[in-house]
Formats: sequence, structure tokens, C-alpha cells
Amino acid sequence: MIHYSVLGIMLRKKCPLRCAHCITDSSPGAEGELDESFVFSLLEEAVGYTPVISFTGGEAFVDPEKLTRCVAKAKSLGLKATAVTGCGWVRSEKQAFEVVEKVHAAGLDRLCISWDRYHAVFKNEWKLKAVARTASRLGLPLVIRSVISPNKLEPDIPELGEIAYRLEKIPLIKLGRAELLPEEDFFWTDSPPSGTCGVVLAPVVEYDGRVFACCGPSHFAPRHSPLFLGDAKKRALGEILKEGREDPILETIALAGSYGLYKILKDYFPAVSVPERKRYSSICDICLDILKDEELIAKLRSFFSSLEGKALLTAMRMMRKYQDKRKAQEKDGEESCCATPRTRREVVYGRS
Ligand code: SF4
Ligand code: SF4
Repeated sequence: MIHYSVLGIMLRKKCPLRCAHCITDSSPGAEGELDESFVFSLLEEAVGYTPVISFTGGEAFVDPEKLTRCVAKAKSLGLKATAVTGCGWVRSEKQAFEVVEKVHAAGLDRLCISWDRYHAVFKNEWKLKAVARTASRLGLPLVIRSVISPNKLEPDIPELGEIAYRLEKIPLIKLGRAELLPEEDFFWTDSPPSGTCGVVLAPVVEYDGRVFACCGPSHFAPRHSPLFLGDAKKRALGEILKEGREDPILETIALAGSYGLYKILKDYFPAVSVPERKRYSSICDICLDILKDEELIAKLRSFFSSLEGKALLTAMRMMRKYQDKRKAQEKDGEESCCATPRTRREVVYGRS
């Protein structure tokens, strides 16, 4: 069974910016927004399925009053609350402080700023600094999430002095508006990339109530795909999340990546035709290719209901448990011998 790490709630599709790599195709003119009362009902349904809610968009801070009330509601239910911002809403240093202070007072546990060269074209550096300074003054943990490319492995984060933040680097994914970006911006491989997927532990409710298995790429999956979990306007979110976390196809993606699905189809169903591309821009390509094909989905379902499939899933779970234990031990060792606190920690995910 999958243990969700966070549930994304996309409050709206609209965003003051229109970044060239935006996977959600957000822009100032984009439409679609979740009603506050509906968000409250989603939060109630999410209890017991996820420890954390991430309010996202579009731009989560476009309506700070609503965001504040949603954060307060999440906290009142015992959930942790985080929010993601591209900082396009900032009008002045003072206003940035007032807004973030208010959301923080409602219980915001962490703030994530999206920032990379695609955001930087809006000359908004001062806005990022204003939000980062506010987070620092309030003691609000800060993450800066930055998309990287082979030709830009180190993101241009403006100098933030003593402000502590965690840097998350994410490889560019060729979906949404990013489809139009130059080819050299992507990490191409000739065969389906291996590597586990942590994003499948982070489902998202989109601006219209549709629920997808991962925040971002699965938006492009058709309704019959396991990546489309359901419509929270038609069915209880709790039911949808329960089904998703028990889906062996999604669990395999978490444990062995989409490459795991590809290998199962290749090894156990040699007669079926698994889609092949000349090259792959990310692990999501093979994931979306396989999980839009109804025949391949049926083959995977039949495999996971067989004894062999169940045994493989158990073996993968055990392997993951062992790896997690090893990682935890290594981390303990690292931290106990690292006397100097670092202001910046880096993680790279989405690639092996
Ligand atoms: S700030 Fe984020 S949501 Fe807004 S356009 Fe840029 S990438 Fe999309
Ligand atoms: S590999 Fe699949 S589940 Fe993971 S982020 Fe990509 S599309 Fe989503």
C-alpha cells in the first residue's frame, strides 16, 4: 500500500505569471478555481490519508484571505499545511510581509518558492527576496524549488545572505507549456529511464475537482488510466484516495519507477507491444505511454492479481524497507559528524 506523503490542493489555475515551462499551463487568463466550502470538505475527507496538505496553483497566494482560511481549516483538522508560490502576487516588501505573516499565523508549516531561470525572466528577483526575507523573519521553514536542465544544472538563486533554505532541484519535464521549449533543455536518454518516483506519493486535487496520482505529469493521463484517481465532485475524496493507495500499479511506480512497469510488461508479456520512443525526456514519458493503453493496463492488472505478481510486489516492498533503513543509518552518520550547520541543503528527485 502507498503511504501518501502530501496531498496537493490546486486552489486555482490562474497565476500572475506565465512561465515558459509551466506544466499546469497557468497564466493570468487561466480559469478554474475550487470553492472554499469544497476545499473544506476535501480537507475533512483527507484526514487519515495524508499527513500534509500543500496548497498550490496556479498561484496559491492570489487570494491570501482564502488561503489563510484554508490553512487554518487544515490545521484545525490536525493536518500540516504548506503552500507553493511563484511570488508573482507580490506588490511591495510590506505587502509581502503582511500576507505571509497572516498565512503563517493561521498555521502554515512551510513555504515553498518556485524559482528558476523561467521565473527569472519576469525580473521578479526582488519579489523572491521579499518573500524569502519574510519567511526568515517569521522562522517559517523555506524551500526553493528549481527546475534544472542539462545546460543549467545549477539554478540561479539570487544571493539570499544568511537566509536558510532547502534547495530542491527538479529536472525539466516536457509536458504542458514546456513542450515548446528547446530540445537541449531536457535530459534525454535513449531508453526508458530507470529510477523510482516519489511524486506518486503526492496526489493532487486539481482546480476542477479531478484527482490525479501525482502532482503535475499525470494531469495528461486519460480517465481510464490508473493515474487518474477520480473526480472529487462526484465521489468522496477519501474513497478515491483509498483506492489509489491500494493500486499495485501505482505502488510499483513508487517502488520501482515507471521502468518497473515497463520491465514487467517486457518480461512477462513478450507478445504485447510496449510503446517505445526514440528517446525519453523523463521517467514520466514511459509512465504516461503505458498507462494510457487499456490493453497494457489490463495486462498489468492481471499480473498483479497473480501469485507471481503478488510475490514480486512483496519483494519490492522488502527491498524498499531495507534501502530506507540503510539511508536512515547513513543520514544519522552524516548529521552526527557534521558540526557546522549548513544554510542550504540540496535534494534532487525525479531522476535515478
Ligand atoms: S509561477 Fe508556477 S504556476 Fe505560475 S506560471 Fe510559473 S510555473 Fe506556472
Ligand atoms: S513517473 Fe508517473 S507517477 Fe511518477 S511523476 Fe511521472 S507520470 Fe507521475
